[in-house]
Order: sequence, then structure tokens, then C-alpha cells
Amino acid sequence: MSDDRPLPALDNETDTEFWQAAADERLLIQSCRDCGERQFFPRSWCHYCGSERTEWVESDGIGHVHTFAVVRRATELPQFEADLPYVVAYVELTEGVRLCTNIVDCAPEAVEMGMDVEVTFDHVTETIALPKFRPREHSAE
Ligand code: ZN
Repeated sequence: MSDDRPLPALDNETDTEFWQAAADERLLIQSCRDCGERQFFPRSWCHYCGSERTEWVESDGIGHVHTFAVVRRATELPQFEADLPYVVAYVELTEGVRLCTNIVDCAPEAVEMGMDVEVTFDHVTETIALPKFRPREHSAE
């Protein structure tokens, strides 16, 4: 990955632990200690009940493609031109939350809504790994 691509800021205390875990190939989501709901993206409060008593829990990294788009032109983000075409998707984890991510390790034409996927980590720098998803049958190879 080239150095001019946008990267997550690691100085945001709300999601620092998320990125530290991702670098260690663990996918974290938030759980509310008051209402029990799970949420993603990371927030300093519960999206459902407003509680500030959230905690990190580790996801099993398994889910399915909720919806997706194939990006074929890099008009707004020329840094990603070398990756074209690529898949931007919302993956719904078995824990019920949805992540905006990329589907990798398969042809864009092979991606379908409902496809079973599992997390994989793209180590883009020494300290940052981006959670992406690949078809689940990949793990059986
Ligand atoms: Zn809550």
C-alpha cells in the first residue's frame, strides 16, 4: 500500500484499543454494559441507550455480506487506482453489527449478498492493520 492513502488516526481515545487489537489480528466490537446491545463503529457512548458504560468484546470475525459495491473508477481517491476494481461492502457479523470494509481474496464478480465471509487483516503499516473480509471457504484451503 502506498504511503499517501488515508489511514486511521491512532490518537483518538475512543477507538485506539480497536486499532491496537486489529494490529494483533483481533477484531473488537463494543458491547453496552447497561442494555447489552453491540455496536460498531466505536463510540464513547451506547448508540441504543446513551450509556457511557461500553466495553470491548472480541468478535469471532465471521459474518456475511449485507450489501456491496464494486469500485471501478478512482475519481475521488486516485491513491486506490492500482487496486481497481475493488469491493466495498457492509459485512454483518454474527454478533449483529455491520462494518464497512473490503472483500478481498476473490474476484469482485464472485461477491454476492449473503456470502459467508471471515475477517483477515491487511497490515498496511507496522502499527495499522485494516480488518477486511474474505470468502469463508478460503480458510479450508
Ligand atoms: Zn446501551
